[in-house]
Amino acid sequence: MPELVESINCPKCGGPLTLAPGEVIVTCPYCGTVSRFQGDKAFVLRHSMLSARVDRDGAVRTIQGWMEGGVMKPDDLRKASRIAAMECIYLPFYVFEVDATTTYTGVLSRTGTNERRSGDLRRDYFWKILGRRSGDFMVRDSRFLNAEVDEDEADRIAREQVDDHQRQLLKDLVDTIEDARTAIDVKDVEFLHAPIWFSTYEYRGQTFQILIDAASGEVIRGDIPPPSGGFGEFMKGAAKDLFRR
Ligand SMILES: [Zn+2]
Repeated sequence: MPELVESINCPKCGGPLTLAPGEVIVTCPYCGTVSRFQGDKAFVLRHSMLSARVDRDGAVRTIQGWMEGGVMKPDDLRKASRIAAMECIYLPFYVFEVDATTTYTGVLSRTGTNERRSGDLRRDYFWKILGRRSGDFMVRDSRFLNAEVDEDEADRIAREQVDDHQRQLLKDLVDTIEDARTAIDVKDVEFLHAPIWFSTYEYRGQTFQILIDAASGEVIRGDIPPPSGGFGEFMKGAAKDLFRR
């Protein structure tokens, strides 16, 4: 049985902190200090925050623009939708500054001849890992979401993903990979909170979700209602979007 933490206090201001099961990095709702918990000990963590450059009105305009454009959306989506809730929540991320070098040998066959190729593929990345396991982004007493993934696990995930990404890039260089080894040098890691507008909208009695990056203004993900007017209208709409060029 793991040891249960009875009461946790902020190492900076002493304020009481609440941790949900699985959470390891907590933002103090009183002073904003970010702490990492190991057992019953707390460590203050270096932390930064992206500022929200898109305000509520800007986020609403982004949602309306999203509803009007793009493929596979009902014609009346904007007119028949009502934004039900909007909340700006700061999600925890780790950003790894990584140098990756993949030493490879392989065969290039797309030219018609089988040429053996070898070399080093070098790339630098700022690789982002979300500090949450669950998709439950409900906030209890702070707009800053706590992290469930610690830095060791995030480091493992980042290395796996960078290695995988490098292998994808190799497909441009060779058609058959014979050998590929990636050396990954993590130069720096930063824990940060990035602001996301979580919004829900209602359309024909159902609720859907849209996520907007409040730092860049981009739609991260938007749920599109399924077509209601039968297959004919669906195809008509799809075709209209497909051929609108
Ligand atoms: Zn505090």
